[in-house]
Amino acid sequence: VKWVYAFGDGKAEGKSQMRNLLGGKGANLAEMSNLGLPVPPGFTITTEVCTYYYDHGKQYPPELRDQVSAALSQVGKLTGRSFGDAKAPLLVSVRSGARASMPGMMDTVLNLGLNDETVLALAKEADDERFAYDSYRRFITMYSNVVLNVEHHAFEEALEHYKETKGFDLDTELGAEDWKTLIKTYKEIVKKEHGSDFPQGADDQLWGAIGAVFNSWMIPRAKKYRELNSIPESWGTAVNVQAMVFGNMGDTSATGVAFTRNPSTGEKALYGEFLINAQGEDVVAGIRTPQNITEKAREEAKSDKPSMEKAMPESFAELTRIYGILEGHYRDMQDMEFTIEKGKLWMLQTRNGKRTAKAALRIAVDLAAEGLISRDEAIGRVEPSALDQLLHPTIDPKAERKVIANGLPASPGAATGEIVFNSEDAEDHRKAERKCILVRVETSPEDIHGMHAAEGILTTRGGMTSHAAVVARGMGKPCVSGVGTIRIDYKAQTMTVGGQTLKAGDKITIDGSTGQVILGEVAMLEPELSGDFATLMEWADGIRTMKVRTNADTPTDARTARNFGAEGIGLCRTEHMFFDGDRIVAVREMILADDAEGRRAALAKILPYQRQDFLELFKIMSGLPVTIRLLDPPLHEFLPHTDQEVQEVVKATGVTEDKIRQRTRELSEHNPMLGFRGCRLAIAFPEIAEMQARAIFEAAIQAAAETGSPVTPEVMVPLVFTRAEFDLVKGRIDATAKAVSEEKGAKLDYQVGTMIELPRAALMAGQIAETAEFFSFGTNDLTQTALGISRDDAATFLGPYTQKGILPADPFITIDQEGVGELVRIGCERGRATRKGIKLGICGEHGGDPASIDFCQKVGLDYVSCSPYRVPIARLAAAQAAL
Ligand code: PEP
Ligand code: MG
Repeated sequence: VKWVYAFGDGKAEGKSQMRNLLGGKGANLAEMSNLGLPVPPGFTITTEVCTYYYDHGKQYPPELRDQVSAALSQVGKLTGRSFGDAKAPLLVSVRSGARASMPGMMDTVLNLGLNDETVLALAKEADDERFAYDSYRRFITMYSNVVLNVEHHAFEEALEHYKETKGFDLDTELGAEDWKTLIKTYKEIVKKEHGSDFPQGADDQLWGAIGAVFNSWMIPRAKKYRELNSIPESWGTAVNVQAMVFGNMGDTSATGVAFTRNPSTGEKALYGEFLINAQGEDVVAGIRTPQNITEKAREEAKSDKPSMEKAMPESFAELTRIYGILEGHYRDMQDMEFTIEKGKLWMLQTRNGKRTAKAALRIAVDLAAEGLISRDEAIGRVEPSALDQLLHPTIDPKAERKVIANGLPASPGAATGEIVFNSEDAEDHRKAERKCILVRVETSPEDIHGMHAAEGILTTRGGMTSHAAVVARGMGKPCVSGVGTIRIDYKAQTMTVGGQTLKAGDKITIDGSTGQVILGEVAMLEPELSGDFATLMEWADGIRTMKVRTNADTPTDARTARNFGAEGIGLCRTEHMFFDGDRIVAVREMILADDAEGRRAALAKILPYQRQDFLELFKIMSGLPVTIRLLDPPLHEFLPHTDQEVQEVVKATGVTEDKIRQRTRELSEHNPMLGFRGCRLAIAFPEIAEMQARAIFEAAIQAAAETGSPVTPEVMVPLVFTRAEFDLVKGRIDATAKAVSEEKGAKLDYQVGTMIELPRAALMAGQIAETAEFFSFGTNDLTQTALGISRDDAATFLGPYTQKGILPADPFITIDQEGVGELVRIGCERGRATRKGIKLGICGEHGGDPASIDFCQKVGLDYVSCSPYRVPIARLAAAQAAL
């Protein structure tokens, strides 16, 4: 079996497609060698060795030692050196390299092969004794730390102590003799801490380092990272052993990192930093300020240190030539590491560079324009969820943040405002044109107006699918939820965190993209939706096959969604309209009424409001489909709670307080989510459905008359589990349509369909489709009922499920394809079997989640519907799903 793959001198045994075997770093080193680029020779020990190692009680395959020594002598031949040789020693670096880059694992050991003897040869060769001993002590600390597990600070203390006794401030003041003395001390430290001498044999050093790389695959940090990023343990890591080149051999040597394009803006220009006379770790360590690569960047940064372009023009020209080759070859922005040893440039690494969403867009569009990639590829290059960063104001990355607490990043974007602790105060702030952040333990439907009025929402309880989170995402308002460390005292109007107490009126900033809560005001950047964004979206729209609608309940939502390219409304939740202003009193009057007559009287008060709501939505969506769902939430949620609320109802109805309270008790529920809600309301109180249907149809006729474009409302019945329920409600809707049509003397086009959001509905979809004209999958309730997990209470226990790998992801965020997805698939199949071409959509939260959207494409949905701010994400995700 071949366990070792060599590279260098313009050729390699591997190539970039062998990433699984060689890891990302190894595959790209091989590829760069094949491209004839200057890569220090070396070899990669494959990921299969890692797998073997763990499968065989930490034993290596028997052939490995011979293969490694053969590869080592080949490297020696190419460099004119030999490993462990006292005259011309070969020194190597040892690095890990998994398929996906994995912070947390053992990274690098440099200068391996140095010992008391070879250090003399290095000194002679470099003609610099100080350099040699500096390298040796670096090697001892690095190796002892990552291979022998000796803590860094032991060496640091010794160094500090030495500097103090000598009166030195900086490491640079230490000469060769100083390092020699310290090296002795360091070795003693190793002996004491590790229990044996620092290994002098080059072979021992090498196998120690190789073992350390493989062992680091299983350390808790690495395991945790894999868990969070769904990287299977079975992948294993490779080990790269490579001839050392020195960036610290004097002023003609240097080391640096460069991106072929600017990773934060995407601008096409070499971008990066380098340090003269330094080794890689110095750039990262931040002890010295690195210099700019290009003259232009130096000017912009107003740096007085020369750029690489000026200071090392030949190497700069070489780097420019290479970056052109690499971009052309990889057809993507590259992140490169290089070292210049005595004027010669060497490439140590290249990989596709990480980038901001803004840069990702620009780079994708530019690469397509340059002809390096196709438009389809450009569409595939941008992570849809990354667009979120672009649709909201964000905190200026340069701004300083005084973070006082951390919660869940529940709804993206950032906002600053004065703290308010209830929705009424939020309203007052809006009226006074003062910005506020609504801070609550949790929110309920009654807080909708306060959430609208606030710039952002902060809750101390609740997860990513809590009321606050879902509603905030819908509104496009930043929200940080579940900040457990904050204690709210509503009475005192204060919140306490980490011993600090903030009052109502104090300013805070929340960052819904990171979950941070920040003291005071922070500088923001505004979203930019034209240019590259618009271009890529246009390309995406050109290839996607699913429509993208929005979940919108208010004119503001509807307008926002249209600006973002929504092609209609897939879900208008009418309940929010019931809480608005004075209506809630009439609503309470209606539900507390004893009989149908009392309900009708109260409903008559609500009708004009509802009609107006729908009229506006129809006009904003002119000509596009609008799905309006009949009242869905548990009646429980509308009941009066406070004395004042009870009094309001008493006043409006003239019914005694006792009676109101009694009726309230009768209607309150233990499990409202599984209780008196959905179509059950319309079954018990058909008047409600009739009023809503009337409002819809009257508005539709009026909107058509006013705008001249026909409106075809889609009336949707929630929480159905049997055809009989649906038929009963549909009967009332049809009768109302007939009546309105006759009264107005106008023809009405409309459809009546249903949500599929209970497992039984999915199973009975064949029967339900006999009368239902469309389906919309309500995957929030479907997930809740299929898994038997309350979406409101999931946050407290769902965490361990994903952490322990019991569930691959939060099923309320990404659809559980195997289980809930199967119900959706069954619903589609059975629905279609009965009614050919039945219109199928999704309106649960999953409609805005890229992975779920891909699933929707697979089962053949006609559209997805999501909150307004997710519309662009869904457009791009739907395009990628169609690719
Ligand atoms: C659903 O259940 O998926 C849905 C869209 O309805 P709601 O979230 O309003 O229950
Ligand atoms: Mg639902």
